[in-house]
Amino acid sequence: MALGVLDLFSIGIGPSSSHTVGPMRAALRFVDELEEQGLLHRVRRVRVGLYGSLAATGIGHGSDSAVLVGLSGFDPETLDPDQVGPLVEEVKSRRKLHLGGRLVIEFEPETDLVLHLRKNLPGHPNGMLIRAEAGDEVIEREYYSVGGGFVVTAEELAADKDAAETIEASEQAVQQDTAAGEKQQTIEFATADELLARCREHGLSIAELMAVNERVTRTDEQLREKLLAIWAVMRECVHNGCTREETTLPGGLKVRRRAPELAAKLEDAEYKASGSLDALEWVNLYALAVNEENASGGRIVTAPTNGAAGIIPAVLHYMDRFVTDADMSDDAVVKFLLTAGAIGILFKRNASISGAEVGCQGEVGSACAMAAAGLCAVLGGTPEQVENAAEIGLEHNLGLTCDPVGGLVQVPCIERNAIASVKAINAARLAMHGDGTHRVSLDQAIETMRQTGADMKSKYKETSRGGLAVNVVEC
Ligand code: SF4
Repeated sequence: MALGVLDLFSIGIGPSSSHTVGPMRAALRFVDELEEQGLLHRVRRVRVGLYGSLAATGIGHGSDSAVLVGLSGFDPETLDPDQVGPLVEEVKSRRKLHLGGRLVIEFEPETDLVLHLRKNLPGHPNGMLIRAEAGDEVIEREYYSVGGGFVVTAEELAADKDAAETIEASEQAVQQDTAAGEKQQTIEFATADELLARCREHGLSIAELMAVNERVTRTDEQLREKLLAIWAVMRECVHNGCTREETTLPGGLKVRRRAPELAAKLEDAEYKASGSLDALEWVNLYALAVNEENASGGRIVTAPTNGAAGIIPAVLHYMDRFVTDADMSDDAVVKFLLTAGAIGILFKRNASISGAEVGCQGEVGSACAMAAAGLCAVLGGTPEQVENAAEIGLEHNLGLTCDPVGGLVQVPCIERNAIASVKAINAARLAMHGDGTHRVSLDQAIETMRQTGADMKSKYKETSRGGLAVNVVEC
């Protein structure tokens, strides 16, 4: 699977990319396949099984609702988040499903959608089986939600693993056809070391190298438009989070929304004059606002996951408010996101961005490193300094477990994003004080994350069976 920057930043809904967006996409993909094969109108029954981490924290993460919404033909990118509740309520009360938005079938939520607690499918901790009976035919697909909203079938997962094992380092430049049918040279890299080497060889920054590779699928103007649209959704998300009137987040933990109150406080003239740590307070606010929106199922940019979705917008807002001039702002956003995307690709390719696979280090650690790299690039860092910033951003998140209380993406997730956002800014600043040379490379830190994740017990990997999830009493 060739990855581009827009694979790392996609528009969806909360609260989880792997547990909400992924299952919704898998269900929609299944329905689309039925339609393509001309089988949709013959379907009489659909049954879905969720396995592993999807079952363990599926209720708290809204995985069951996401499946129903996906089977009903909705896409997370275009779905209005306010539609989810009524739609799910209707399926449950009428016990009927509008498959693909067209065919009405019987659906018994208790037996047709089953969370198989403590059972796993072989490919990944986030497994799904979807089965449809269409006349005499039975169609069954095994899907995996592998983090960041990515969904693959069992066959694609196996093919991806084979491809990863046969990647040759000599694949440095590859000719590919653009959408317009022209030949375009892409600049391949599998590791951070290779990325730096390619930047040196071609005399490009990391953002420029990424832009070259993106030309295979879209023009520079289209890319810029897409990235600025991502930024617009991030800003809207922060605005929504700061202006909500509801005081408590859904889910039963009774977690208070803090962003609206903090926003009012920071705008208060008396508080401004008190000499508080201004920039840091605003960074906290931006991250809290995004993650509170995520926790309540709002419109979110997956960056690179939903659980860690507050870090990159918080650092971008910091950059926009405290670093760049207004007339430079859009250029800086594009540079930031392209650079962060390159770093995200390294994580996805060489370790994981899935909390169910490697713990929270894969989500918050990856996002922190990506944000640090993006900011460092905008501050004028060389590719070596950018790599250094990303490494610092990851190194101090290594070993972070995933233990969401009540299976909800709230505690520790929301606050953790604020802390990691500040950490990312500090990482970028530290890297800017150096010349790019440093002791631990980003590749070594990513490999350490992969190994640490492999050694981590499953109770610390998005199952809510360990850590804070068992030591904090739900009430
Ligand atoms: S603890 Fe981290 S990985 Fe787990 S759900 Fe929260 S943000 Fe995601």
